[in-house]
Amino acid sequence: MAKRPYIVGNWKMHGTRSMLAEARAIDRAAERLMKVEVALAPPATLIHATRKEADLIGVGAQDCHAAEGGAYTGDISAAMTKDAGAGFVILGHSERRTYHQETDADVQAKAASALAAGLNVIICIGETEAQREAGEAEKIVAAQLAGSLPQTPDAGDRITVAYEPVWAIGTGKTPTVDDVNAMHKAIRETLHSVYGDAASEIRILYGGSVNAQNAAELLAGPEVGGALVGGASLSAESFVGIVVAAA
Ligand code: PEP
Repeated sequence: MAKRPYIVGNWKMHGTRSMLAEARAIDRAAERLMKVEVALAPPATLIHATRKEADLIGVGAQDCHAAEGGAYTGDISAAMTKDAGAGFVILGHSERRTYHQETDADVQAKAASALAAGLNVIICIGETEAQREAGEAEKIVAAQLAGSLPQTPDAGDRITVAYEPVWAIGTGKTPTVDDVNAMHKAIRETLHSVYGDAASEIRILYGGSVNAQNAAELLAGPEVGGALVGGASLSAESFVGIVVAAA
Protein backbone atom coordinates (compact mmCIF):
# COMPACT_ATOMS: atom_id res chain seq x y z
CA MET A 1 0.00 0.00 0.00
CA ALA A 2 1.32 3.47 -0.86
CA LYS A 3 2.48 5.42 2.17
CA ARG A 4 0.69 8.61 3.19
CA PRO A 5 2.32 11.89 2.11
CA TYR A 6 4.77 12.93 4.78
CA ILE A 7 4.99 16.64 5.68
CA VAL A 8 7.79 17.49 8.09
CA GLY A 9 8.42 20.92 9.60
CA ASN A 10 12.00 21.86 10.49
CA TRP A 11 11.99 24.72 12.98
CA LYS A 12 15.80 25.07 12.82
CA MET A 13 17.13 27.35 15.61
CA HIS A 14 13.75 28.97 16.20
CA GLY A 15 11.40 28.61 19.10
CA THR A 16 11.10 28.84 22.83
CA ARG A 17 8.23 27.44 24.87
CA SER A 18 5.88 30.11 23.55
CA MET A 19 6.05 28.27 20.19
CA LEU A 20 4.33 25.25 21.71
CA ALA A 21 1.00 26.90 20.89
CA GLU A 22 1.87 26.45 17.20
CA ALA A 23 2.68 22.77 17.78
CA ARG A 24 -0.65 22.29 19.55
CA ALA A 25 -2.53 23.95 16.69
CA ILE A 26 -0.72 21.79 14.13
CA ASP A 27 -1.55 18.70 16.17
CA ARG A 28 -5.24 19.63 16.30
CA ALA A 29 -5.31 20.16 12.54
CA ALA A 30 -3.60 16.80 11.97
CA GLU A 31 -6.55 15.13 13.63
CA ARG A 32 -8.79 16.11 10.70
CA LEU A 33 -6.10 15.47 8.07
CA MET A 34 -5.26 11.86 8.77
CA LYS A 35 -4.53 11.22 5.07
CA VAL A 36 -1.22 12.99 5.69
CA GLU A 37 1.56 12.01 8.09
CA VAL A 38 2.63 15.21 9.85
CA ALA A 39 5.77 15.75 11.90
CA LEU A 40 7.76 18.57 13.46
CA ALA A 41 11.46 18.82 14.25
CA PRO A 42 11.73 21.58 16.88
CA PRO A 43 15.07 22.55 18.42
CA ALA A 44 16.39 19.91 20.84
CA THR A 45 15.33 22.04 23.80
CA LEU A 46 11.67 21.68 22.79
CA ILE A 47 11.52 18.00 21.82
CA HIS A 48 10.27 16.77 25.17
CA ALA A 49 7.68 19.53 25.58
CA THR A 50 6.46 19.21 21.99
CA ARG A 51 6.02 15.46 22.43
CA LYS A 52 3.92 16.14 25.54
CA GLU A 53 1.79 18.84 23.91
CA ALA A 54 1.20 17.17 20.58
CA ASP A 55 0.31 13.52 20.58
CA LEU A 56 -0.83 12.89 16.99
CA ILE A 57 2.07 14.26 15.01
CA GLY A 58 5.59 12.86 14.81
CA VAL A 59 8.26 14.73 16.76
CA GLY A 60 11.89 14.57 15.79
CA ALA A 61 15.32 16.17 16.10
CA GLN A 62 17.43 18.14 13.65
CA ASP A 63 20.71 16.34 14.28
CA CYS A 64 22.41 13.85 16.59
CA HIS A 65 25.98 12.79 17.30
CA ALA A 66 27.25 9.51 15.85
CA ALA A 67 28.88 8.29 19.07
CA GLU A 68 26.90 6.54 21.79
CA GLY A 69 28.32 8.88 24.42
CA GLY A 70 31.57 10.44 25.59
CA ALA A 71 33.48 13.68 25.90
CA TYR A 72 31.63 15.68 23.23
CA THR A 73 30.63 18.91 24.97
CA GLY A 74 27.40 20.32 23.66
CA ASP A 75 26.49 17.30 21.56
CA ILE A 76 23.49 14.98 21.92
CA SER A 77 23.57 11.25 21.12
CA ALA A 78 20.88 9.35 19.24
CA ALA A 79 19.84 7.47 22.40
CA MET A 80 19.48 10.77 24.31
CA THR A 81 17.44 12.17 21.44
CA LYS A 82 15.14 9.18 21.58
CA ASP A 83 14.93 9.43 25.35
CA ALA A 84 13.82 13.07 25.02
CA GLY A 85 10.80 11.89 22.99
CA ALA A 86 11.99 12.03 19.38
CA GLY A 87 10.87 9.39 16.91
CA PHE A 88 13.12 10.50 14.08
CA VAL A 89 16.09 12.70 13.29
CA ILE A 90 16.91 14.88 10.29
CA LEU A 91 20.50 14.29 9.19
CA GLY A 92 22.81 15.96 6.70
CA HIS A 93 20.78 19.15 6.30
CA SER A 94 22.73 21.52 4.05
CA GLU A 95 23.08 23.97 6.96
CA ARG A 96 24.84 21.21 8.94
CA ARG A 97 26.97 20.31 5.93
CA THR A 98 27.91 23.99 5.39
CA TYR A 99 28.28 25.38 8.93
CA HIS A 100 29.54 22.22 10.63
CA GLN A 101 31.47 20.77 7.70
CA GLU A 102 29.53 17.50 7.87
CA THR A 103 30.61 15.03 5.21
CA ASP A 104 28.65 12.19 3.65
CA ALA A 105 30.61 9.78 5.86
CA ASP A 106 29.55 11.76 8.97
CA VAL A 107 25.92 11.59 7.88
CA GLN A 108 26.21 7.86 7.21
CA ALA A 109 27.69 7.25 10.70
CA LYS A 110 24.99 9.35 12.35
CA ALA A 111 22.28 7.51 10.43
CA ALA A 112 23.63 4.11 11.51
CA SER A 113 23.77 5.31 15.12
CA ALA A 114 20.25 6.76 14.97
CA LEU A 115 18.75 3.59 13.50
CA ALA A 116 20.52 1.50 16.15
CA ALA A 117 19.01 3.74 18.85
CA GLY A 118 15.52 3.20 17.45
CA LEU A 119 15.10 6.51 15.60
CA ASN A 120 13.89 6.81 12.03
CA VAL A 121 16.04 9.02 9.83
CA ILE A 122 15.50 11.71 7.21
CA ILE A 123 18.65 12.06 5.12
CA CYS A 124 19.03 15.38 3.28
CA ILE A 125 20.86 15.83 0.01
CA GLY A 126 20.93 18.56 -2.62
CA GLU A 127 23.08 20.44 -5.08
CA THR A 128 24.26 24.06 -4.99
CA GLU A 129 23.24 26.57 -7.62
CA ALA A 130 26.67 26.43 -9.25
CA GLN A 131 26.47 22.65 -9.47
CA ARG A 132 23.02 22.85 -11.11
CA GLU A 133 24.20 25.50 -13.56
CA ALA A 134 27.15 23.29 -14.46
CA GLY A 135 24.72 20.46 -15.32
CA GLU A 136 26.05 18.32 -12.46
CA ALA A 137 23.04 18.25 -10.16
CA GLU A 138 22.04 14.61 -10.66
CA LYS A 139 25.62 13.35 -10.47
CA ILE A 140 26.34 15.32 -7.27
CA VAL A 141 23.09 14.26 -5.58
CA ALA A 142 23.60 10.58 -6.49
CA ALA A 143 27.11 10.63 -5.00
CA GLN A 144 25.93 12.43 -1.84
CA LEU A 145 23.11 9.95 -1.41
CA ALA A 146 25.23 6.84 -1.94
CA GLY A 147 27.80 8.18 0.55
CA SER A 148 25.22 9.17 3.19
CA LEU A 149 22.94 6.13 3.26
CA PRO A 150 23.51 3.72 6.13
CA GLN A 151 24.43 0.19 5.04
CA THR A 152 21.24 -1.28 6.45
CA PRO A 153 18.93 -2.32 3.61
CA ASP A 154 16.55 -3.99 6.07
CA ALA A 155 15.85 -0.52 7.55
CA GLY A 156 14.27 0.75 4.30
CA ASP A 157 10.95 1.49 5.95
CA ARG A 158 12.68 3.65 8.60
CA ILE A 159 14.58 5.81 6.14
CA THR A 160 13.28 8.90 4.33
CA VAL A 161 15.30 10.94 1.85
CA ALA A 162 14.79 14.69 1.47
CA TYR A 163 15.92 16.29 -1.78
CA GLU A 164 16.65 19.91 -0.91
CA PRO A 165 18.46 21.99 -3.53
CA VAL A 166 20.69 24.26 -1.44
CA TRP A 167 19.79 27.29 -3.57
CA ALA A 168 16.06 26.78 -2.89
CA ILE A 169 16.31 26.70 0.90
CA GLY A 170 14.92 29.86 2.44
CA THR A 171 15.27 31.82 -0.81
CA GLY A 172 11.75 31.72 -2.24
CA LYS A 173 13.21 30.04 -5.36
CA THR A 174 12.06 26.57 -6.39
CA PRO A 175 13.07 24.21 -9.18
CA THR A 176 10.55 23.54 -11.93
CA VAL A 177 8.16 20.69 -11.33
CA ASP A 178 9.89 18.80 -14.16
CA ASP A 179 13.28 19.26 -12.49
CA VAL A 180 11.89 18.01 -9.16
CA ASN A 181 10.36 14.98 -10.82
CA ALA A 182 13.51 14.18 -12.80
CA MET A 183 15.66 14.41 -9.67
CA HIS A 184 13.31 12.26 -7.60
CA LYS A 185 13.32 9.62 -10.34
CA ALA A 186 17.13 9.65 -10.34
CA ILE A 187 17.19 9.39 -6.54
CA ARG A 188 14.86 6.37 -6.70
CA GLU A 189 17.28 4.73 -9.12
CA THR A 190 20.22 5.33 -6.77
CA LEU A 191 18.20 3.96 -3.85
CA HIS A 192 17.46 0.80 -5.83
CA SER A 193 21.10 0.39 -6.77
CA VAL A 194 22.10 0.60 -3.09
CA TYR A 195 19.23 -1.22 -1.37
CA GLY A 196 17.56 -3.34 -4.07
CA ASP A 197 13.88 -4.04 -3.44
CA ALA A 198 13.91 -2.43 0.03
CA ALA A 199 14.27 0.92 -1.74
CA SER A 200 10.60 0.93 -2.70
CA GLU A 201 9.69 1.58 0.95
CA ILE A 202 11.62 4.84 1.07
CA ARG A 203 9.75 8.12 0.70
CA ILE A 204 11.53 10.94 -1.11
CA LEU A 205 10.53 14.39 0.14
CA TYR A 206 11.09 17.67 -1.66
CA GLY A 207 12.34 20.61 0.42
CA GLY A 208 13.12 24.22 -0.47
CA SER A 209 10.74 27.21 -0.23
CA VAL A 210 7.60 25.07 -0.07
CA ASN A 211 4.53 27.07 0.93
CA ALA A 212 0.77 26.63 0.92
CA GLN A 213 0.55 28.14 -2.59
CA ASN A 214 3.14 25.99 -4.38
CA ALA A 215 2.83 22.75 -2.38
CA ALA A 216 0.14 21.01 -4.44
CA GLU A 217 2.10 21.48 -7.65
CA LEU A 218 5.50 20.54 -6.20
CA LEU A 219 4.10 17.45 -4.46
CA ALA A 220 2.13 16.07 -7.39
CA GLY A 221 4.95 14.06 -9.00
CA PRO A 222 4.85 10.26 -8.80
CA GLU A 223 8.07 10.05 -6.79
CA VAL A 224 7.39 12.98 -4.46
CA GLY A 225 6.37 11.51 -1.12
CA GLY A 226 5.94 14.75 0.80
CA ALA A 227 7.84 17.85 1.85
CA LEU A 228 10.45 19.04 4.31
CA VAL A 229 9.44 22.57 5.23
CA GLY A 230 11.53 25.23 6.96
CA GLY A 231 10.21 28.80 7.16
CA ALA A 232 6.58 27.96 6.45
CA SER A 233 6.49 25.47 9.35
CA LEU A 234 6.97 28.20 11.95
CA SER A 235 3.33 29.22 11.92
CA ALA A 236 0.53 26.69 12.26
CA GLU A 237 -1.53 28.55 9.67
CA SER A 238 1.03 28.30 6.87
CA PHE A 239 2.17 24.79 7.79
CA VAL A 240 -1.37 23.44 7.94
CA GLY A 241 -1.97 25.06 4.52
CA ILE A 242 0.78 22.81 3.16
CA VAL A 243 -0.69 19.75 4.90
CA VAL A 244 -4.09 20.54 3.37
CA ALA A 245 -2.47 20.84 -0.08
CA ALA A 246 -0.86 17.42 0.39
CA ALA A 247 -4.07 15.67 1.51
C1 PEP B 1 14.79 23.47 5.07
O1 PEP B 1 15.58 24.16 5.70
O2 PEP B 1 14.78 22.24 5.20
C2 PEP B 1 13.86 24.14 4.19
C3 PEP B 1 13.28 23.45 3.26
O3 PEP B 1 13.68 25.51 4.39
P1 PEP B 1 12.64 26.47 3.64
O4 PEP B 1 11.32 25.72 3.56
O5 PEP B 1 12.56 27.67 4.50
O6 PEP B 1 13.20 26.72 2.29
